[in-house]
Amino acid sequence: MEEILPEWQQQIKDSIRSLDALLSVFPEIQIHEGMREAERKFPMSLTPYYASLIRRPDFSDPVFAQCVPQQAELLSPKWLSEDPLAERSCSPTPRLIHRYPDRVLIIATSACAAYCRHCTRKRVSSQCDAAISDEELEACVAYLKTHPEVDDVLVSGGDPLMLTDNRLTTILSSIRRIESVKVIRIASRVLVTLPMRITPGLVDILRANAPVFVNTHFNHPVELTPTAIAAANRLTDAGIPVANQTVLLRKINDSAEIIEKLCRQLFHNRIRPYYLFQCDLVQGIEHLRTPLSTGIDIMRQLRGRLSGMAIPNFAVDTPGAGGKVELLPESIIGQTATGTLLLNSRGEKVLYPDPEIK
Ligand SMILES: *Cc1c(COP(=O)(O)O)cnc(C)c1O
Ligand code: SF4
Repeated sequence: MEEILPEWQQQIKDSIRSLDALLSVFPEIQIHEGMREAERKFPMSLTPYYASLIRRPDFSDPVFAQCVPQQAELLSPKWLSEDPLAERSCSPTPRLIHRYPDRVLIIATSACAAYCRHCTRKRVSSQCDAAISDEELEACVAYLKTHPEVDDVLVSGGDPLMLTDNRLTTILSSIRRIESVKVIRIASRVLVTLPMRITPGLVDILRANAPVFVNTHFNHPVELTPTAIAAANRLTDAGIPVANQTVLLRKINDSAEIIEKLCRQLFHNRIRPYYLFQCDLVQGIEHLRTPLSTGIDIMRQLRGRLSGMAIPNFAVDTPGAGGKVELLPESIIGQTATGTLLLNSRGEKVLYPDPEIK
């Protein structure tokens, strides 16, 4: 007899993992060789739930465009790299990134419920679905014990909520036992791509390790379905604050109207808009990047229309471990023919290249 899986695990099992599998769901789509080449370079995956949000099976659809490989991913301008934020250089022990004095990020797994085409860690998601081992976790805990200045641990990935409840319990309780760690943040996109993962059992695990924040990643209003909202409510009702980090994506959400609608609906549902991120300089996502001026223009328009409670911080993670820079009109100190000059929090000038495609 076949085992009956929980709904979220069934969704993962039934995920669409190739263009051919996508074709059997949407027989009308046209698949070109360029898409196949992009798929070989950067694998695809999406849950049946996320696929059900596709209204038009072509790249004009915001969900389709976020998870289906396209030829433009093969573009490779010289400023793009596999590890633009130099995360490897800030990693004192495998899976732990320590870039800011008081916060660290732990890559708990490389698996995700959907592989976003714009992912900063495309290099991680294209490897196997490896989860953090016991030895690696112990090494992270040992590092944190000798760094009591770190009071905030971001459990990230991939998507940590792809791990089983048992594994999450082990990871979160090991971090929680470190006295100097006050806050645990979980970066997860399951509210968007696999909301049925937010089971009562998972909510209990998160609550048992409070204070835990969940930071999620809605990019477009169509993703805020009743199912996703109900899952977010299960978290907030249990005292787990939910915030959102949107990535600004060319032709997907790069207008003030879309971002305003998204932020307003997030706010109505107690999901605090936290960041609006400029797309990182990662190989395979050049076609999704906007010039910095697009985000600045959007922010200007939001200021007059939305409460400060619903306005995210527009930020860019600067190349070469320069860290995040909040993009206020005044953080832009110049424009060259190829890019924009920014001032980071250490007072250093950083050149941020504009996209090749205008
Ligand atoms: C973004 C990030 C953080 C958290 O930054 P906040 O601005 O506090 O959300 C921590 N570590 C790394 C490596 C990051 O990239
Ligand atoms: S969910 Fe996050 S880590 Fe996973 S592919 Fe999408 S952007 Fe990358």
